[in-house]
Amino acid sequence: MSISFYSLVNKTKIGLHTLISSVVDPQSCLRCGSDANFILCDSCLKIFFDPGFSIKRCSVCGKQLISEKDMCLNCRDEPLLLHTDSVYPIHPYRLWKKELLFQWKINGNRTFSFTAASLYNQVLCSKYNTIPIVPVPPRPGKIFSKGWDQMHDISKILHKMYGRTILYILKRTEKKQQKKLTREERLHQMGHLYEIKKNIKCIPEEVVIIDDIMTTGVTLENCAELLKKAGVKKVHAVTLFIAD
Ligand SMILES: [Zn+2]
Ligand SMILES: [Zn+2]
Repeated sequence: MSISFYSLVNKTKIGLHTLISSVVDPQSCLRCGSDANFILCDSCLKIFFDPGFSIKRCSVCGKQLISEKDMCLNCRDEPLLLHTDSVYPIHPYRLWKKELLFQWKINGNRTFSFTAASLYNQVLCSKYNTIPIVPVPPRPGKIFSKGWDQMHDISKILHKMYGRTILYILKRTEKKQQKKLTREERLHQMGHLYEIKKNIKCIPEEVVIIDDIMTTGVTLENCAELLKKAGVKKVHAVTLFIAD
């Protein structure tokens, strides 16, 4: 790609997809397989851009519900989100969305950061408009070794293109990568994965944590607990996906 990431960031929102399309090779749409200039074709992008505001969701974890109940089974049987006041996971992590996350996060299709950021922004506008954002930080050294991190991209775009306040107040402490741990080990490590950076003077009343996917909820809960201990009164979270 000839255009640098940061010069892309500085372009206006209008025409961004056209701009991106012109610098990536034509490919087929991840969802429907038709010819597309982007990872998704225009009609599948519309589906992706729907934040699902009208869908009934679990009052605790935000998972989409089919039944008339107010809470999902997990939240009723094994309540985990005790410090998180509300969660808005935009899409269920199913089918083509798994490939989407893989293409973005693992395969390094970094232009997708703009698409995703626009969707995060829609949810922030509608639900948490003036609240500062706290991104879940990458593991130490990731940006140095890999060159980028997907949530760092999202944070930069939310700030530069949408004028949002980003507070980089959390840092990650663990050495072992979380995906290599079993669920039990992950639960056991709760409270040790992240910490509040030293010398943080200003702690807001309310924040929105952003992350790419909510799997067990341990990460969000871990961050929310730390933020509350540091003096934040209300902690919300927005994630792009939620695993079933
Ligand atoms: Zn399509
Ligand atoms: Zn739930």
